[in-house]
Amino acid sequence: MLIIGLNFIGNVRKGENLSKNLVIVESPTKARTLQRFLGKEYIVEASVGHINNLESGYGAKYTGPVAGVDKDFEPIWGLEKGAVTRINNLTKLAKDCETIYLAADPDREGEGIAYHVANALIEKKQPKEKFKRVVFHEITEKAVMEAFENAGQLNMDLVDAHIGRRLVDRLVGFSLSGLTSSLLRLKRLSVGRVQSVAVSIIKDKEDEINAFIPKEYWNINGEFSMNNIQYSAKLHEIDGVSGKDLVISNSDEASKAQNELESLKYKVNSVKSSTRKTKPRPPLTTSSLQQDASSRLRLSPSRTMSLSQQLFQGINLGSGEEGLITYMRTDSTALSSESLNEIGNFIQNSYGDDYFAQRKYKTTSANAQEAHEAIRPTSINRTPESIKSFLDDDQYKLYDLIWKRTVSSQMSESENKKTTIITISSDEKYKFKSDYDELVFDGFKKLFPEKETEKMPNVSENDLVNLESIVKEQKFTQHPPRYSEASLIKTMEDLGVGRPSTYASILNTIKEKKYVWVINRSIYLSPIGNVLVEEIKKDFSKEFMDYKFTEKMENDLDSISNGNLKRSEFVKSFWKNFEPIKKNYEKRSEENPRNPSEYNFIRTNIICSSKSPCINSETGKEFEDNDRPLGLESLNASLEKLPRMVWIRFRNNKGDGAFLACEDRECKVTADESAWAGFGRRRSRTLEALKNSMKEKSIH
Ligand SMILES: [Zn+2]
Repeated sequence: MLIIGLNFIGNVRKGENLSKNLVIVESPTKARTLQRFLGKEYIVEASVGHINNLESGYGAKYTGPVAGVDKDFEPIWGLEKGAVTRINNLTKLAKDCETIYLAADPDREGEGIAYHVANALIEKKQPKEKFKRVVFHEITEKAVMEAFENAGQLNMDLVDAHIGRRLVDRLVGFSLSGLTSSLLRLKRLSVGRVQSVAVSIIKDKEDEINAFIPKEYWNINGEFSMNNIQYSAKLHEIDGVSGKDLVISNSDEASKAQNELESLKYKVNSVKSSTRKTKPRPPLTTSSLQQDASSRLRLSPSRTMSLSQQLFQGINLGSGEEGLITYMRTDSTALSSESLNEIGNFIQNSYGDDYFAQRKYKTTSANAQEAHEAIRPTSINRTPESIKSFLDDDQYKLYDLIWKRTVSSQMSESENKKTTIITISSDEKYKFKSDYDELVFDGFKKLFPEKETEKMPNVSENDLVNLESIVKEQKFTQHPPRYSEASLIKTMEDLGVGRPSTYASILNTIKEKKYVWVINRSIYLSPIGNVLVEEIKKDFSKEFMDYKFTEKMENDLDSISNGNLKRSEFVKSFWKNFEPIKKNYEKRSEENPRNPSEYNFIRTNIICSSKSPCINSETGKEFEDNDRPLGLESLNASLEKLPRMVWIRFRNNKGDGAFLACEDRECKVTADESAWAGFGRRRSRTLEALKNSMKEKSIH
């Protein structure tokens, strides 16, 4: 197996001396996996974390608009803490090596890291000629050896796109942070460019929900029978008005219909069937992996990313580390022809020819250089079951998902038989409808079995049936659902906001800064999130908060990475547009400072009382796990007057924090904020503690 590698090492080696080569990667795990494939002639070392960052803080030189950006919009770099030791270590190793291979991850970020590491070593007198860039999308022996055989130079277009993003994010972040600290008087309330757009998407939804007025409607169902057959059907048509147009809007109408229905006779009007085929979904990209892992496995996007990084970098399968999946940051659904063959063979051998249907997916991304292949197992023959004992629970679940999504993308369509039975009243005024769905051929669903659906009753046209009962049910239209982490990522992707490398970190930041709360998997806007978007929108709506604007910026960055746009031009034209808006904003906030108590002390909907603790003023009932944290409409005036718990934000030298306390200062009831704005088990637990604390301490 090592033939390619040995050839190559032979080329590099000079004379009799065993000259060593230095390979620099990001992490120790990746270093271990690579070391195993490369052998003793290579020293594989991790650079660990960032080497440098745009300058900030007290020591920063302000020669340009903000710290870290000079007057020509070039970056001013400062070393990260601890980087000195790491660079000294790498320099020591580099001295005895003939070639230095930069083997950071295969995307803009990776190219950026490689560039900075190289620069740091060049400053330490390492000659430029020694450096080579190797790029591989999977850490397997074959892919790695090929990459080393084709070692090239750093791609400066990718580096420029990476630096361009950092410059623009810095220009916006620092400008707006200055604004929010004067405006909101909170130092740590920093604002990211894409993050604020994400919060704005959530606020739009929250506004939609608040404006929503629920409407009453009634469902009427009939239970029918014939001999020993029974089936239920939904009232679907009255006097020719059917489907969505048929609305029974109050209890009088429902009762009137019920009385009439109960006096009539019925027969089967029609039984109609059709076949429907369903295609499997394409192979996984970063975004669809995060969505699927979130909805199927309940893993947060950042957890999904760290797990898939582990799978990519290498898992010890008994005989050493092995990369199990291809690179996890990608927006491509393509599969290499080699893997297509492997998958095809696997399906034919394991499930039979009927289950195989080859499909080729093309990369639709404009950014072809970065999008290489979909996320897939490095070997399809490594079934989830066969390596289960080497993986922890979550690693296994995620690998299983990636494996199944990859294999199923090459499997045949599933086939369903859909049958609709229409039952009609003797006067032909009323029609009932029952739908049945039967799986005829499972196809790719072999890997994703579905629950069995109701069996179709054996009735045919013109059969007379008996009405057993009519059940009517009061309903209200529901507001549109809040975003989950999965659906927010989907929306951001559709709007062109963010890129595969940024979705998880955007979500992390807006949660950490408490712009949003995730409660029982739904994303709620917090009061500061609300203020943030409202304030920024006043002046920035067109230019900054517009999704199109962010999308254009991402496209510009893609153009830089494809070599079609100069970084300096991009940054300068951005600033030309942004500076006047920023000035205008600063002026307005100086004239009109905001009152911090508006968002630092938020009255919650939890009523403080020792007799009936934790009543929700909105519902009049005990505060429950699924209750929303905001919404201050009281059920009635008497509830309005009772003392509430208040959400209090504070800042100390450790950072921002928040807790709940009774608004009556004499009362000593306090609680962890997660009783109100927390999630899952944590919320129930702290809510229980709050209830007990009220029983003991509340003075009301
Ligand atoms: Zn109290």
